Amino acid sequence: MTTHPYDALMDITARPKTVFVRGAGSYLWDDNRKRYLDFVQGWAVNCLGHSPPAVADALASQAKRLLTPSPAFYNEPSLKLAKALVENSAFDQVFFANSGAEANEGAIKLARKYGSLHKGGAFEIITFEGGFHGRTLATMSASGKKAFEPLFEPKVSGFKKAKLNDIASVEKLINDNTVAVMLEPIQGESGVWPASDTFLQQLRALTEAHGLLLIFDEIQTGMGRTGKLFHYEHAGIAPDIMTLGKGIGGGVPLAALLATERASCFEHGDQGGTFNGNPVMCAAGLAVLEEVSKPAFLKQVTETGLLLESELQKVSARHGLGGVRGRGLLLALDLKLPIAPGIVAQAFEAGVLLNAPQLDALRFMPALNVAKAEISEMIDCLDGILTKAGAARRVA
Ligand SMILES: *Cc1c(COP(=O)(O)O)cnc(C)c1O
Repeated sequence: MTTHPYDALMDITARPKTVFVRGAGSYLWDDNRKRYLDFVQGWAVNCLGHSPPAVADALASQAKRLLTPSPAFYNEPSLKLAKALVENSAFDQVFFANSGAEANEGAIKLARKYGSLHKGGAFEIITFEGGFHGRTLATMSASGKKAFEPLFEPKVSGFKKAKLNDIASVEKLINDNTVAVMLEPIQGESGVWPASDTFLQQLRALTEAHGLLLIFDEIQTGMGRTGKLFHYEHAGIAPDIMTLGKGIGGGVPLAALLATERASCFEHGDQGGTFNGNPVMCAAGLAVLEEVSKPAFLKQVTETGLLLESELQKVSARHGLGGVRGRGLLLALDLKLPIAPGIVAQAFEAGVLLNAPQLDALRFMPALNVAKAEISEMIDCLDGILTKAGAARRVA
C-alpha cells in the first residue's frame, strides 16, 4: 500500500519534501547537498548549533559506557546534571523527562499533589490565553491556544485562562480551589509575546499572598536563550517550579521538572517513567549546561541578541513593517501583513530556514553561538525577499 517512503509516516503536519542528512553549527544539508542557514534550529532546540562536538562526544562516550541501568537505579550523568542544575538555579530537586510536554505534565501533577497535601485538595491552575505547554491531553488543556479548543474533547478540567500582563485578570480567577499559576515568561508558540518583568513580579507577590505555587514553563526561554541561564532571573524573582526542555538536550530528547524543597512533594508511586534520567541524554545535558552556563557565553548571547534585534529593526524601517519583540535570541518581527508563510517558503528556496508562528510574524531562534556573519547572511536574504514582495505589491 505504501507508495513512497514519506507515506509510511503519519501525516501530522505539512512538511517540504526534502530529507535532511547532515548538520554542522548554523547549517543544515539536504540529500541533494543543498545547504541551508538555520534560524529555526530544531525549534530552539540546538542551542549550540547542529551536532556540536561537545554534545556528540558526550553522547558517544556515554553510549559506549552505559545506555541505561534501569530507572529504579541511580546513574552518574543524571546525578551530576541534577546537581549542576540545582547549583545554577533557585531550585532544590529535579525530575528528568523525555519531552517538554512530559515535564509540564509533571509540573501539573506536582501542583495538584501540593494542593492535596497543603491546600485542602485545591487543584485549579491558572494559565494564560495564547499559552502553549505541549500536546498531551493535560498540557493541551493548560494551553490557551485557540486551535486546540475544539480538539479531543473532553479536555482535562481545572485550567482557567487569564490574560498575559493583566494582573487583575489573574486575581479575579483565584478561589479556594486554586493551587498554582503557570506561564511561559515569553509566549513562544503563539508568536513571541513577552510577559513584562513587572507582571512577573506582580505574579510572584500575588501567588505568595494567596499561598499559591508559581510555575514557569521555561522550555523555550531557559538554557540561556534570553541571555540569562533562566528567564526568571531578568525579573529578579524565583518561581516555585520550573520546566525545561528543548535547549537542555542540545538536540536530543531531554526535559526537566525543577522544584524548590517546599514544592517538591511527590511520594513514591506518584511520578516515574522508563527513560527518566537516562544517562545518555543526561550526558548531553551536562555538556550543554557546562557551555551555556559560562558568564562569557551568556554575555555573548545578550550581545548577539541585541545585534539581531537592531538588524531586524533596520529591516522593519526599510520595508515599513512593525516592531521587533522578544529577548536575547528569541525574537519575532511583526510584518503587519499576513505574508509570513510566503516569506518562509521563499527563504527555504533561497536556503534560509525561518519560522512563522503567526501569519503576520516571523520568529528567529538561531543557535546561541550564531556568528555575526550568519546574522548578516540571513538579514540579506530576508531583505531581498521583502524588497521583491514590496515591488510585487506596488505593481498589484
Ligand atoms: C515546545 C514547548 C513545549 C512542549 O515541548 P515538547 O518537547 O514538544 O513536548 C512546552 N512548552 C513550551 C513553552 C514550549 O516551547
